Amino acid sequence: MQRRLISLTLGAALVAAACAQPQQPPTPPAASAPEVTLTRLDCGTAGPAADVGRFSDVYSHQGLLLQLTFSCYLIKHGDEYMVWDTGHSLSAGAVAPKVSLVDQLAQLQVKPEQVKFVGISHYHPDHTGQVGSFPATTLLIGKGDWDVLTSPKPPANAPTAPFAHFISGGGKVEPVPLDKDVFNDRTVVMLATPGHTPGHHSLMVNLREKGTVLISGDLMHFHENYDSDGVPPFNTSRSETLASLARLKKIAANTRATVIIQHDARDVGKLPAFPAAAR
Ligand SMILES: [Zn+2]
Repeated sequence: MQRRLISLTLGAALVAAACAQPQQPPTPPAASAPEVTLTRLDCGTAGPAADVGRFSDVYSHQGLLLQLTFSCYLIKHGDEYMVWDTGHSLSAGAVAPKVSLVDQLAQLQVKPEQVKFVGISHYHPDHTGQVGSFPATTLLIGKGDWDVLTSPKPPANAPTAPFAHFISGGGKVEPVPLDKDVFNDRTVVMLATPGHTPGHHSLMVNLREKGTVLISGDLMHFHENYDSDGVPPFNTSRSETLASLARLKKIAANTRATVIIQHDARDVGKLPAFPAAAR
């Protein structure tokens, strides 16, 4: 009895110690990490400024006119490459990009087969349209989103066509349940920020000169809904969105990060203009 009590107490103490461990942001990168650079790629064509009231389930931002943009990113890690999000497809009509991702990468002398990882923030079509251009990559996508894409009846806003090669088993897929340190040296980390979709992720990139850059995915869509913890009514979980916003804000404060909201045209200038890269 005595021994059982002791082991129970010890077990409880171990659990308490594990829970009390502060969650340190995975920064700075390992000293052995190669140089990392970050380039913005254009992933769609914005229309005229439009009312963004539809992005708030508490009727904020009614009448606020904003022009939203579509952004993807190239991360160069030594001689390895990662693409973050793949934007609209070229057949997306008015919002289709004017230059494909493959052609933008060609301007940087990068071939699709050199892209080791394609990370997808979430399954919406303005983030996944050109993923099929990278058949040889390893696809990194939140497990919650991959489960939806591979379910018997995915919703209309989770189109499976761009992923056909991967869903059929023809391509490598790594569903990401939590955070993922992509190159295992803390330079590039997918951050689990669910709520917009079940497996939504944001991206942390730790650069030597610029410091930490946090790329939003669609955790927030523009400054005003980031500042006011706004939740679009079409998100899959209000409570998860709020928890994810709180998490990202704490990481941003702890790492003194540059926060880039992918759809906010006012954030495009936070990185050097293509083809230049932040480092
Ligand atoms: Zn979205």
